[in-house]
Amino acid sequence: MEECCGIFGIFAPGCDVSKLTTYALYALQHRGQESAGIALSNGQNICLRKGPGLVSELLPKFKELEAIPAVSAIGHVRYSTTGDARPENAQPLLISYRHGSMAVAHNGNLVNGEELRERLEKEGSIFQTTTDSELIAHLVARYGYSDLESSLKGVMPYLHGAYSFLFLTEDKLICMRDPYGIRPLSLGQWQGHHVLASESCAFDTIGAEFMRDVDPGEMIVIGEEGLKSIQVLPTHRKALCIFEFIYFARPDSNIGGANVHLVRKELGRRLARECPADADVVTGVPDSSMAAASGFAEESGLPYETGLIKNRYIGRTFIQPSQQVRDIGVQLKLNPVQKVVEGKRVVVVDDSIVRGTTSKRLVDMFFRAGAREVHLRISSPPVVSSCFYGIDTPTYEELIGYQRQVEEIRAKIGATTLGYLSQDGMLGAIGLPEDNFCVACFSGDYPI
Ligand code: AMP
Repeated sequence: MEECCGIFGIFAPGCDVSKLTTYALYALQHRGQESAGIALSNGQNICLRKGPGLVSELLPKFKELEAIPAVSAIGHVRYSTTGDARPENAQPLLISYRHGSMAVAHNGNLVNGEELRERLEKEGSIFQTTTDSELIAHLVARYGYSDLESSLKGVMPYLHGAYSFLFLTEDKLICMRDPYGIRPLSLGQWQGHHVLASESCAFDTIGAEFMRDVDPGEMIVIGEEGLKSIQVLPTHRKALCIFEFIYFARPDSNIGGANVHLVRKELGRRLARECPADADVVTGVPDSSMAAASGFAEESGLPYETGLIKNRYIGRTFIQPSQQVRDIGVQLKLNPVQKVVEGKRVVVVDDSIVRGTTSKRLVDMFFRAGAREVHLRISSPPVVSSCFYGIDTPTYEELIGYQRQVEEIRAKIGATTLGYLSQDGMLGAIGLPEDNFCVACFSGDYPI
């Protein structure tokens, strides 16, 4: 079960919080397209609107919330992953328990989720979803304190894995981030009120100012009295997911102080130095690889061209749950510009190879469009391990990089040459201390 999603929270009594949350979810849409939802508090009750689909498709539902004089809200966009596209898994989750109501939204994946769930089920709990949000709601309800903050402090040490949680009660907005800080979460300010978001691009969209990242192991409680920060768990080692920089995050977001676009450009520059290509033109796979491709072109002195056009009205290829449909998805989504690549030796830069489906299709497409040579360059190392912390990577056997040499992968994909950026090159490009990152998908070295 993977849960890579986008979350947003706002505490702004008397303001148009449902609209602001809707706009913020638009900005976070790249983090999940399967479902979206908003839970809103008017100070006495919490109201929830959610459903399958994109934020734009849910606008009529979200609009219903505008009539409510609101204090605070949380919002969620959910990423679709193989096998768990169940409507009941849409978030936020709203529960009533003996101390009131609480809405929960989260991003990440607990590695001991199954174990905790099994234990609770043995003791009589009944679950309606397979989300970690429901799990934590059960744990909190059992913990017994009348205030959520104390219960969460008690529950947090039992949670192992990657999580950024948002909780909404009638009068509080609370967030907590796992002690490794695997999934991003930032704190901002909008017209003197506090906001929380998976990525800083959501702040820009609503005109909020970025204040700081939520610290690993930190809980923040926001209410009428203002903001309170509590370091609930100590941090022994930070492990921010490096794949946020490689693929997942939006280029206009800053994570850990580094801008995602500039990092990607630097990844491309380093890739050009490590794996140069004797070629005529450089092109990138839209959207996540455009920055790396331009960095590659700049560094290598080769012209950058738009060699691939993306159909903007089709979601990410991974949305399709079955391999068969996913294959078609790539073709629907990308088409080469024949006149640009015809007769040329083309460098194609992509950010990652996971199963190899996209790369193989792309290489075929470029050859069919008349490219003479296709030099595939990847601005990250081979993905050799599955992610258990919330990025949708398949099982080991499905990973083309698992137990294969680069030459074997190249042969399977059919490229003229294939080059990956090294792990050192990748870490160096970010410019933050190297031991701050989780690189498990590239190294097999899991922090938890
Ligand atoms: P694959 O076809 O399985 O090799 O997937 C690699 C392609 O999908 C690359 O073009 C990436 O930009 C993109 N990608 C990588 N990781 C993910 C992910 N977790 N979800 C969706 N797309 C991804």
